[in-house]
Amino acid sequence: MPKFTINNTEVEFVQGQTIIEAAKKAGIKIPHFCWHPGLSISGNCRICLVEIEKLPKLAIACSTQASEGMVVHTKSEKVIAAQNAVMEFLLINHPLDCPICDEAGECKLQDYAFKYGKGISRFDEEKNHKDKRILLGPNVMFDRERCISCSRCIRFCDEVAKDPQLTFIQRGEKVTITTFPGKELDNPYSMNVIDICPVGALTSKHFRFRSRVWDMSFTDGICIGCSRGCNTIIGVRKNEILRLEPRLNEKVNQWWMCDEGRLGTFKFVNDENTRVKTPFVRPEEAEESDENLVATDWEEAVSKSVSVLNGARKHILFIASPYSTLEDNYALKKFAKEVFGTDEIFYIPDIDTKFADDLLRKADRTPNATGLEAMGITPIGEKTIKELKSGNFKAVYVINDNPERTGLTKADFSGVQSFVFHLNTLNGFASEYADVVFSESTYAEINGTFMNFEGRIQRIRPAVATLEQERLLGEYSMSRLDKFGAPNDRWMKEVRFNTRPTWKILKQIAKAFGTDFKFDNSEEVFAELCKNEFGLDGMSYEEVGSKGIQIKK
Ligand code: SF4
Ligand code: SF4
Repeated sequence: MPKFTINNTEVEFVQGQTIIEAAKKAGIKIPHFCWHPGLSISGNCRICLVEIEKLPKLAIACSTQASEGMVVHTKSEKVIAAQNAVMEFLLINHPLDCPICDEAGECKLQDYAFKYGKGISRFDEEKNHKDKRILLGPNVMFDRERCISCSRCIRFCDEVAKDPQLTFIQRGEKVTITTFPGKELDNPYSMNVIDICPVGALTSKHFRFRSRVWDMSFTDGICIGCSRGCNTIIGVRKNEILRLEPRLNEKVNQWWMCDEGRLGTFKFVNDENTRVKTPFVRPEEAEESDENLVATDWEEAVSKSVSVLNGARKHILFIASPYSTLEDNYALKKFAKEVFGTDEIFYIPDIDTKFADDLLRKADRTPNATGLEAMGITPIGEKTIKELKSGNFKAVYVINDNPERTGLTKADFSGVQSFVFHLNTLNGFASEYADVVFSESTYAEINGTFMNFEGRIQRIRPAVATLEQERLLGEYSMSRLDKFGAPNDRWMKEVRFNTRPTWKILKQIAKAFGTDFKFDNSEEVFAELCKNEFGLDGMSYEEVGSKGIQIKK
């Protein structure tokens, strides 16, 4: 491979690579505002100026290609003077907004002012004032004074979202971005401009002023909005999810995620009105109506489900969930087989062809249907539906789903005598018909895995706390919990719902039936399912890592 020298270190590069790319690969940081690895090169901010021996002038590292034998300096006197000058120009008209700016704490301009600026301003005149609250579209706010004209947002719309909705107008100190006349910044990926804006010029209408970022904890997650499984960062403050952001995974979503996944997949986790916060049972004498579900403890919910399932024994239909983890669905399959000797386990697909596009969004609106299929759990078919209608099933056992999604009406279930549900959010069907509702943890409260549409297994970790985790904190040492993605101290301050992972609830019910599941934590369920379902002995969460592992082509 060809080599060049950067700060007296020899660095290999691929032909055609720019200095900034080759340096990044070698772990050498060159400051940049307008350059972004997922966008075309603009070369307008000039903070990446470097000195190249034998060249008369400094050159920008983002658009200068590395070449054999080239000698580059990123910390020479000339480079430092240029960096100081660029920072001085950028800060001349920049408002002193940091105390009220959402970006503070994660702002490139703030960081670089500290690292590459002189720390003083020679500018005594009045700063140039511009509009500070412009709604660019349904999700994005713009502050004109904070913009440093890097053009990242414009290039994103043109090149990635393929929906050119932003442009520059005016010149010199008056230059600013705007939408085209009569148009809004409104495309399925519009909020990515907030992530890539290097300053606080573009902010989220929904997250605006909700929290300082240093008061939040951040946990790696996976979006549950479709079968792409975009990698995310879950931002939490006081046990409440405040935002989702994309996390770089070159193999899955690169730097991006869609707005619907970002906004539509976390509010239910926080919602005290709709969450199932504790187990519920319907007392024997109760009529079928939602008032009659009463809150109870885990023991009573387990014993009630044992009695209703005992009554149905050989005639139970198990409905798995494409929204739940591999671990939970595997535990349900095992429960059906080992406790009731049945293979009557199916799932209800969720396909929306209008949602799909050529960038990230997939028509399969579930994070794990591929995983279910890989475990031999198939969509519910005509034969089963006919059996349901003719009253062959005496009980239906559902995890994380609503049987009405089959397209059947309530009357079609009239032959079913008992329903047991695991739910994190109550639905109308369960309120009306359930005998038992176990309060199930959401994807943001558990360890587990999903398999995306390409057969890639990806991990989720707890980002918000439940009562169960608080209890576990008493049982396990902190270091053990850390291994399974434990929260930090701040994360644990406000504990709320009395929920458990589905695999754990099933283990408890199986035990009441005299069947002992050997696993004690989600990683042990994962190891067992990988061995039994995919023939992968010795798999661990560590092997899955932070970016997932491809197990199916
Ligand atoms: S709004 Fe942000 S991303 Fe867009 S040009 Fe200004 S600084 Fe760059
Ligand atoms: S493309 Fe799918 S997985 Fe990615 S953010 Fe959107 S809904 Fe979520």
